[in-house]
Amino acid sequence: STFQDLGLNDDLLQAITDLGFEKPSEVQEKAIPILLESETDLVALAQTGTGKTAAFGFPMLEKIDVASRTTQGLILSPTRELCLQITNEMKLYGKYCKGLNVVAVYGGSSITDQAREIKRGAQIIVATPGRMKDMINRRLVDISKIQYSVLDEADEMLNMGFKEDITDILSHTPNDKNTWLFSATMPREVATIAKKFMYNPQEITV
Ligand code: AMP
Repeated sequence: STFQDLGLNDDLLQAITDLGFEKPSEVQEKAIPILLESETDLVALAQTGTGKTAAFGFPMLEKIDVASRTTQGLILSPTRELCLQITNEMKLYGKYCKGLNVVAVYGGSSITDQAREIKRGAQIIVATPGRMKDMINRRLVDISKIQYSVLDEADEMLNMGFKEDITDILSHTPNDKNTWLFSATMPREVATIAKKFMYNPQEITV
């Protein structure tokens, strides 16, 4: 299939052309139609390097309202490196989405600068759990209107001991949001998190 077949809008299709992506990867082919066509939770078993950032990124960019400055999408990832990588990808994918602001929130860098960026209006925040929790506690960020949350590399985040932070962060988001969980492996801890935070998730494996 082609990206056009998946039902993506022209802003995204143009960015995809610029990036030179010729056709959807397997995880994109499986996840994008599900996420575009329904408001559903999703559990995706996928390794890094499979194109999973676009698998959740394209639908999120398509679904958020860029005319609003409210934070609508939250992507949690285990490391600063991954957080910055996802932020960069999202900015590239959303380069024609006028008014889009994607902000990275991670430790080891100025919290004041990150708070200032958020205050300008970030529709999407990409964050590591520790710093995100810190910002919530200091009331530097409002995630009460989140509609889409992604737990990326969920197995890694749990391995790194972020379970409590994730639980705490998600407790500040609305119950009726959709959660999309991506993980390379599905140990019991990940299944438990999925069960706790997700309602009747669709499942894909690549
Ligand atoms: P990810 O698994 O999301 O980290 O993506 C791995 C790399 O593949 C990134 O550099 C993406 O920009 C790239 N990529 C994602 N989707 C595609 C695609 N459909 N065709 C070619 N490259 C892609």
